[in-house]
Amino acid sequence: MKILIAEDDSLLRSLLEEQLTAWGYDVVASRDGGEAWQILQSKDAPKLAILDWMMPEMDGVSICHKVRAELPEPYTYIILLTAQQRDEDLIAGMEAGADDYISKPFKHNELKVRLRAGRRIIELQNELLAAREILRQKASHDALTRAWNHEEILRILHQELARAEREGEYVGVIMADLDHFKQVNDTYGHMAGDAVLHAVAQRMQSLIRPYDYVGRYGGEEFMVVLPECCQECASAFAERIRQSVCGQCVDTSEGQIPITMSLGVAASDRVGGWNAQDLVKAADTSLYQAKKNGRNRVEVAVSTAVLAPND
Ligand SMILES: [Mg+2]
Repeated sequence: MKILIAEDDSLLRSLLEEQLTAWGYDVVASRDGGEAWQILQSKDAPKLAILDWMMPEMDGVSICHKVRAELPEPYTYIILLTAQQRDEDLIAGMEAGADDYISKPFKHNELKVRLRAGRRIIELQNELLAAREILRQKASHDALTRAWNHEEILRILHQELARAEREGEYVGVIMADLDHFKQVNDTYGHMAGDAVLHAVAQRMQSLIRPYDYVGRYGGEEFMVVLPECCQECASAFAERIRQSVCGQCVDTSEGQIPITMSLGVAASDRVGGWNAQDLVKAADTSLYQAKKNGRNRVEVAVSTAVLAPND
């Protein structure tokens, strides 16, 4: 585990460095508070720090204040190294956000035990953050396809429309539905059907730009949100998705399954005043047209402008 030592006394600093290295820590050393604060803000900064109280540039207590105010996550465990003996000083140090303190001179074994406690806190914190990330993923993503789920893709659409309104930009929406998907499930079984949904979502993800969004709207229906994308641009995206989906069979345990997709496109204009419901409805109507006109095709909303509430 990486550890920061900030100590202006060069003899003590090299002693600590040597000892901590011998205990298996990956030591980063600094000779003053300014340098220590820089290191703590850097990418992959140590999450365990031993800070001397009295140092040039910035003292240990000031660094504690700054870490707690500006670097809340992931947690940095701080041990203050102090010659201060007065209770009120030590209390001030702990109130500044230090987790522990060691008075100089200290016994090596004591430091070892204190560090073990700190390491344990850091490890628990890492586990907690990982668990929270998993929960966040589960709450916002569809488990089968890894695309955004229904609630999240609608939230994203609202968010992108609000942004577009502020910036005078377009938002394109594609509603995409697999053709005759029930037959896939009936013929090959639901496992193969799931594999098809997963593969189709992957193909869609591979075609979009880094700032676009693919969501599973429900069953075999997907929604794509394309920021800064006019109707023409959204329509071109839809056509590429269609070609990619029907261009190659999906390889499943039940064999090669051919699949096609119908897509409906709509986009907001630069005038603004759009709401998500109208846009989804326009894309949905186009999708319905695509189904009606023979499937495996893209249809574009005739004139989304007529749907603008101010017209
Ligand atoms: Mg000092």
